[in-house]
Amino acid sequence: MKYVTAKRAGLLSCHACGRVEPRIRSVTPQHCGRCGSRLHSRNPDSLMRTWALLIAAALLYIPANLLPVMHTSSLLGSEDDTIMSGVVYFWTSGDWPLAVIVFIASIMVPMLKLSVLVLLTVTAQRHSRWRPDQRTTLYRMVERIGRWSMLDVFVVTLTVALVRFKSLAVITAGPGAIAFGSVVILTMMASMQFDPRLIWDDVEGGVNGSTQKPQDLKHD
Ligand SMILES: [Zn+2]
Repeated sequence: MKYVTAKRAGLLSCHACGRVEPRIRSVTPQHCGRCGSRLHSRNPDSLMRTWALLIAAALLYIPANLLPVMHTSSLLGSEDDTIMSGVVYFWTSGDWPLAVIVFIASIMVPMLKLSVLVLLTVTAQRHSRWRPDQRTTLYRMVERIGRWSMLDVFVVTLTVALVRFKSLAVITAGPGAIAFGSVVILTMMASMQFDPRLIWDDVEGGVNGSTQKPQDLKHD
């Protein structure tokens, strides 16, 4: 089975308006004939940018889990909670569905997303031909989860609202919450910088997979 990518067929697609144009080797940089934006066959420096964002996210994952995300002060004293101690608190106080949601949303999902993105970046960098369709599925999953990443923030907001309603306790966000938010945003940015087409660049079809030469293609 041969895969013919637009790159191999000598075509460039515009990231802004979607127009596909034949690549003209003598013209660099080439601009879109319709909207004028610069054309690239792949996101420029995709792997380097993905790495930078992933490393930053992985480093911030440490304070996100070690620093308190929630500061509770009531008449009985004050308490600082990290994500994990919050999960334990919900679990022991009988709110196990909340404990499960917080555990999945704030510990498991960010960890899985980071691991999947590292796997995709490493394999793309090594020009791996390993299971391109499954890797594409993984990428699609990460993209889809991205929309739900802020779920945890909603859970925290909800808890704060409930606790405030029920008692005299005052709950504020701790420094861990800023680190956690940054992890979520940096991971989302990393998955946006990763160009999934890189997965298919080294797959079967190779350099000779092209069926049409650039000069055979006409404008519009
Ligand atoms: Zn365009």
